[in-house]
Amino acid sequence: MEFRINILGTASALPVPNRYPSAHVLSVRGRLLLIDCGEGCQLRMRQMGISPLRIESVFISHVHGDHIFGFFGLVSTMGLLGRTAPLHVYAPRSFASIVKFAVSNFGEGMKFGIEMHPVRVSAPELIFESRSIEILAFPLRHRIETYGYLVREKEPMYNVRKELIGTDSLTLAEIGALKRGCPVVREDGDVLTLERYAYKPYIPRSYAYCSDTAPFPELAEWVRGVTLLFHESTYTSELGDLAVATNHSTAADAAKCALEAGAGKLLLGHYSSRYKSTEPFLKEARSIFPETFLAKDLDIVELPLVKA
Ligand SMILES: [Zn+2]
Ligand SMILES: [Zn+2]
Repeated sequence: MEFRINILGTASALPVPNRYPSAHVLSVRGRLLLIDCGEGCQLRMRQMGISPLRIESVFISHVHGDHIFGFFGLVSTMGLLGRTAPLHVYAPRSFASIVKFAVSNFGEGMKFGIEMHPVRVSAPELIFESRSIEILAFPLRHRIETYGYLVREKEPMYNVRKELIGTDSLTLAEIGALKRGCPVVREDGDVLTLERYAYKPYIPRSYAYCSDTAPFPELAEWVRGVTLLFHESTYTSELGDLAVATNHSTAADAAKCALEAGAGKLLLGHYSSRYKSTEPFLKEARSIFPETFLAKDLDIVELPLVKA
């Protein structure tokens, strides 16, 4: 039951040799989800041993080149590899014409379809759901229409304490009710409480992707309690004016959001090419939110399963 983030790129508009533009591959419970696909993302996938054929869905934050230029190469490669499974694309509506362009120019012999799921939300909304996970989209504040994504595990069913099944002669119906979180009242008046008879096997894990965005008050509320918050930090506070002018965030802005949201950990990325070293981002953010980490290209971030 993995929940893993593969970092394919951490640059912003201008790539630098060791930082490719934005892309994450999220591996969650056997599904591979690509979140943004900056230029070079398929090369990074090769380096990390991720097959493009296994990507089930692509989630696009916004139609700026540093988040989408990798889509053309990826679609072409999927075609060359003989992909047949449909590719689901969740993106702002304006991405549809880019997909059309990619398919008509680079999709020769393509045997798979691209299913578009236009995203248009003004507050967090569910856009995907399986038995075990759900994905919400929410608006960010950038120069063009931009969305963040929150991927989270659903609340697990209760486990019933095995040692009590025999000793208290629990029936199948009683076990079923306890699993669903319903206490049982027996005919003799005895109550089988959840506290005594059941427990949650683990705490659901979650990951939010917030890039690109200026800081805004609602965001912390929308990602409240997230296990791992990825928040862009294009600049440090020294260049705060530039962040404001371009609708981006500083490392301090990202840290304040993580602190307010009660996030477990903060992961920074989308660094401006002006910075040769990313250490200043870490220093600035950690002074506000100590559980901050720097995303680096080719990093793998695991969210371990924690017992409830
Ligand atoms: Zn960007
Ligand atoms: Zn942008």
